[in-house]
Amino acid sequence: MEGLSGAYGDERNPFERSLGESNLFPLMSEGISVFQVNMGKVCNQACRHCHVGAGPGRTESMSGHIVDECLKVLKSRRYPTLDITGGAPEMNPDYRRLVATASSFGINVKTRTNLTILIEDGYRDLPAFLARNDVEVVASLPYFSSETTDRQRGGGVFEASIESLRALNSVGYGVEGSGLKLFLVYNPCGAFLPPPQRAIEADFRKELKKRHGVSFTGLFTITNMPVGRFLDFLNVSGNLPGYMERLKSSYNPAAALNVMCRNTISVAWDGSLYDCDFNQMLGLKCAFGVPDHITEFDHERLSVRRIVTGPHCYGCTAGAGSSCTGAVVK
Ligand code: SF4
Ligand code: SF4
Repeated sequence: MEGLSGAYGDERNPFERSLGESNLFPLMSEGISVFQVNMGKVCNQACRHCHVGAGPGRTESMSGHIVDECLKVLKSRRYPTLDITGGAPEMNPDYRRLVATASSFGINVKTRTNLTILIEDGYRDLPAFLARNDVEVVASLPYFSSETTDRQRGGGVFEASIESLRALNSVGYGVEGSGLKLFLVYNPCGAFLPPPQRAIEADFRKELKKRHGVSFTGLFTITNMPVGRFLDFLNVSGNLPGYMERLKSSYNPAAALNVMCRNTISVAWDGSLYDCDFNQMLGLKCAFGVPDHITEFDHERLSVRRIVTGPHCYGCTAGAGSSCTGAVVK
């Protein structure tokens, strides 16, 4: 974390001073409506911007025991949304059990997919499985052209993604009237902020339909966080100071008010608890006296916890803001 780590642990790091100026320090959660589960770092891809540092060579994967613990919490609390992420969470042996059981509790299950996994052997039946369980699909697609997509995610990824999107459309995902939701996630392919969500969504909708006959429900723009492989890229390319300055100078109090950690709890593959997926990648567990492991889950204390923040949080509060469901200021 060269260039960033010095500020962590300070009582008032730069981000917290910005929060203070907006009367939001200390940042507190306001309940839990999203229970996010990161099933691990195993992935069939190894993208350049990956904040998780995931890839085929990684072995960190949530055990059946931790999945049981997550289901125990979900059964008793019935949070409105379960948000499943990774890596490629589909590659976890307990993925389908988690999805189907949580869905049977009446919880809105959301799964994040890199798309390409859906056309690999052993996974081709997943679109139908997800449709049967009424799961919301959130799919990464950096752009509607192969050149930009493959540069960020690897050769052949665009073509495979289009094939997967067609498979999802064929079972009703993203098709008007089906009730099956398919959201796309756009993130910039360099050290800059995303364009306005509505404008880029319109471009994606027009181009994907015209060029590939693909439809989708909506699109989220996500700011690249200075974390994981993207941080490595910023460091190596000399872009870190400029990027951090851009994020900091675009600090938006309205976005800070709505950051996703205020209504989310994030469980890591080993059961540790975090305020969000980014804190997870930085090893910043829930702190300030609240439980930090799923086996000690305590809703009352966790839903009014103080959130652990650092300079990386400027990634969530720049411009229109950024969260797992895109811009936070519409
Ligand atoms: S960005 Fe997504 S698809 Fe790419 S390596 Fe990371 S987890 Fe895998
Ligand atoms: S990085 Fe995490 S803790 Fe920081 S503002 Fe964003 S969601 Fe909250």
